Order: sequence, then structure tokens, then C-alpha cells
Amino acid sequence: MKYYLFIVITYLLSCIYIQKTYAQTDSQLLKDLRILSSDKFEGRKTGTKGAELARVYLSERFKEIGLKSFGSSFKQPFTFKGDKDANINGINMIGYIPGKTKDVIVISAHYDHLGIINRKIFNGADDNASGVAGLLYLAEYFMKNKPAKTMIFASFDAEEMGLQGAKAFVAQPPVDLNQIRLNINMDMISHNDKGELYVCGTFKYPGLKKYFITDNPNLKVLFGHDDPKQGHDDWTNQSDQAEFNAKNIPFLYFGVEDHKDYHKESDKFQNINKTFFTDAVNAIKTIVSNIDKERDIQKIFREKLKMKKQ
Ligand SMILES: [Zn+2]
Repeated sequence: MKYYLFIVITYLLSCIYIQKTYAQTDSQLLKDLRILSSDKFEGRKTGTKGAELARVYLSERFKEIGLKSFGSSFKQPFTFKGDKDANINGINMIGYIPGKTKDVIVISAHYDHLGIINRKIFNGADDNASGVAGLLYLAEYFMKNKPAKTMIFASFDAEEMGLQGAKAFVAQPPVDLNQIRLNINMDMISHNDKGELYVCGTFKYPGLKKYFITDNPNLKVLFGHDDPKQGHDDWTNQSDQAEFNAKNIPFLYFGVEDHKDYHKESDKFQNINKTFFTDAVNAIKTIVSNIDKERDIQKIFREKLKMKKQ
């Protein structure tokens, strides 16, 4: 009897242990977000040690994934004028996967954030470690599922200082600007209690709507925040896609509505919605893949019909 009890207790303990280790090992997607928004990176403000550490991390991940670089490294340095005309240096991180045609899609997400303010670290988990983790996830996916179009993965610096990294990228693009068919920008994609992910850009480019086929009932992908009549609620010029739009390059910007932790010290890993984030990134992956393969609603419908007949 005693022996039996011992086995039961050991079994129960092992269950608890397994559950605990399971909770500790998150997916690579969550891990990238968690690491980039940890205190070590000191809020990744442009020109700081924290931003440099973020670049070291990104460089390692780009290499691990197998992205190519345009020059000898993934870095694209640039200079811009800050307050009081002082020169500030920023560095974009750029890698790519070659496609089979001349067409290019630029997938972007800024890695910089606000740094340390009044001795408090602004970790920027949603803004925008989430977008960067999403970018790495897409890079990994398209490395395994080779794209038709060349995919450039651009993690911009100095977005918080006025979209400076994106400005530098379109001023000195690594490929001809007219080869760039589309910019997919991700900025704040991990924090929404209602399961709502917005996509901005289809007001100007309604032709892109036909690629939005997602089958996750827990996620609402909503078109909006892109009508100039909406004033401040039009997000077209509020993140890096604005610089692509200024060059008449079509864009889709994925993001959430402002939340209680927006630009606050509390924008931390523990405050994001992990399931929502994973769902959002998966939906973006499907949409980008549809655009790359030019699989629209009709094509997918025909494919499904064919499968049924078989
Ligand atoms: Zn942002």
C-alpha cells in the first residue's frame, strides 16, 4: 500500500514537473519577443548600447535562419538630424531571400524603442519587439517555403524618432525602387483583448483585399484606419509604411489599436496576449504567402473544389 502511494505521488509530481517545463519553453516566436523586450536591451533606443545588443541578436538570428546580406553585413548605417540639429547615427538591419522573379516584397518592423526614461526601462514588448519577432518568424517560414518574389527583411532603426530608418532605406534602397511591389509593415501586433488585428492600406489598394483568407475564428482581421477622412485615426503616416507610400509603393500595415500600455513602462512581455500574437503572425504569414503566390479567393476556392472531387 505504501509503495502504491509512493508511485502515485511520484506520478503526480512528474506531471507537475512536465507542465512546469512546458510552460517555460515557449515557441521561438515568443522567445524572440521575450528576449528583445528584456531589461538587458534597455528599451533599444537609437544610438544606445541596448540598440547595439539588439543588432547583435538580430544578426545572429538572421545568420541562423540563413538570410543573405546585400553587402558584407546585414547593417545599413545612416545619419539624420535630431533635436538642435545634432547628427544622430542609426543602423537598419537588412537581410533577404532571393526569389524566382524580379519582383520584391519588403517585410519591415522597427526594432528601436524609447530606451530609459527617468531611470525606468521602457521595454517596448508590443512596440515593437512583437513586429521584429514576427519578421523573424516570416523569414524562417519563407526560408523553408521558398518564395516566388524576393523577400527583403528590413528591421528599421529610429522609427520612434520620425521613421528615420525607413526614410534612409527608400533613399538608398538595396534594389531598384520600382522592383518593390509591396511593403508589409508590422508595428504592434501582440496586444489586443478583443482579438482584433487591423490592416491599413486596402483603402488605397483595394485590389489587395482578395488575398485575405484566414480561417482562424479567434482572430478578427479588420480593414481600416486608412481613410484620409479619419484624420488622426488614419494610420497611413504613423509608422514606417509611410515612407514607402510616399514613393507610391503599395503597402499593408498590420497593427493593433492603442492600448493601456502604449508608450508606457508597462509595455512588457507579461502584458502581451500570447495566443493573439501567435494567431496574428500566422494570419500575416498566410496573407503574405497568398500575395507571393498570387493565390486569391477565386484560386483558393477552385483548389478546394478540386480537392473535394479527388
Ligand atoms: Zn512602433
